[in-house]
Amino acid sequence: MNCNYCEWRCSLTRGEGRCRMYTFKDGVIQEKYPFTWSRCQAEEIEKVPIFHFLPDERILQLGSFNCNASCAYCMNASIAEPQQELATFVLQPEQVVTLAKRGQYKIIHFGINEVTVSLPSALKIAALARQNGILTGCSTNGFLTEEAAAAAAAAFDFFNLSLKSLQDSFYRQHLGLPTVAPVLRNIRYLAQHTHLEITTPITKDNEGEIPALAAWLASVNKKIPWHLFRLLPAHKLEHAAPPAVMTLVNTVTALEDKPYYIYIGNFVGSKWVNTHCRHCGETVITRLSDGACGARLQANYLKQDLCPHCGSRQDIVVEVNKCTA
Ligand code: SF4
Repeated sequence: MNCNYCEWRCSLTRGEGRCRMYTFKDGVIQEKYPFTWSRCQAEEIEKVPIFHFLPDERILQLGSFNCNASCAYCMNASIAEPQQELATFVLQPEQVVTLAKRGQYKIIHFGINEVTVSLPSALKIAALARQNGILTGCSTNGFLTEEAAAAAAAAFDFFNLSLKSLQDSFYRQHLGLPTVAPVLRNIRYLAQHTHLEITTPITKDNEGEIPALAAWLASVNKKIPWHLFRLLPAHKLEHAAPPAVMTLVNTVTALEDKPYYIYIGNFVGSKWVNTHCRHCGETVITRLSDGACGARLQANYLKQDLCPHCGSRQDIVVEVNKCTA
């Protein structure tokens, strides 16, 4: 029996799969650690980063552990590749939803590690959250199977997908994944079916790919917000120098074929975390980059989703019709 959550499609007949999170038991694929988490914390949606979906909303963020990839520069390696036993806890769907309601969180987000390795748990929580008028979203490396991506797109209200490169060789060398093809396929699918933002961690090894990545994303949909994440040395690349800020800024400034909204973050004081109206250029949202992932919202000048200067509708979700059962 092969696992169908990600494109490794591991055989589970003789034990656990590559991520060590699934097993084949009683004739079905099962999670080894259902509803088991390593993190449950409060965040702001801009820290995911998600900049174009309910700005300034607080999120209840859940993370499990382990991963289906092995990124050389993983910033959460102690959770994605734990070397020793990790402190974990169980929160059933009812408990998560109760926590969210008690804390008045409108959004539950599955992040920290790869959502695919705990997808059945996340989907069950998302279903119960929806019944209770709570939105859900996730962060993913996008290596899901087609069927898992479809199930996730139906369940979650937004995605941040990390596209690291367009090259199979980069995925093999830096992520331990055999190919980028399923990631590109899933981006095309998710862009049509849900709210999608893309993050690309930039190292010196892929900064030359920025123009090609920009053109590819623009060919999918120019409205997809693109977050360039200046990767600081971490994990197996802890001795690698980060890309120079000015190199990134100059490269992005010179782009011709590109998405409308490009953000550059992960360095203190970045001006590239603000949103400008793509029609008149007016700044419609300002954010503060504190040097870590994402940013914090400073001021939102939008009138509903309209530019206060030219009155154009913006590509930002400011309201969601919460679907309840
Ligand atoms: S989710 Fe885990 S067990 Fe399933 S195919 Fe991917 S790596 Fe293998």
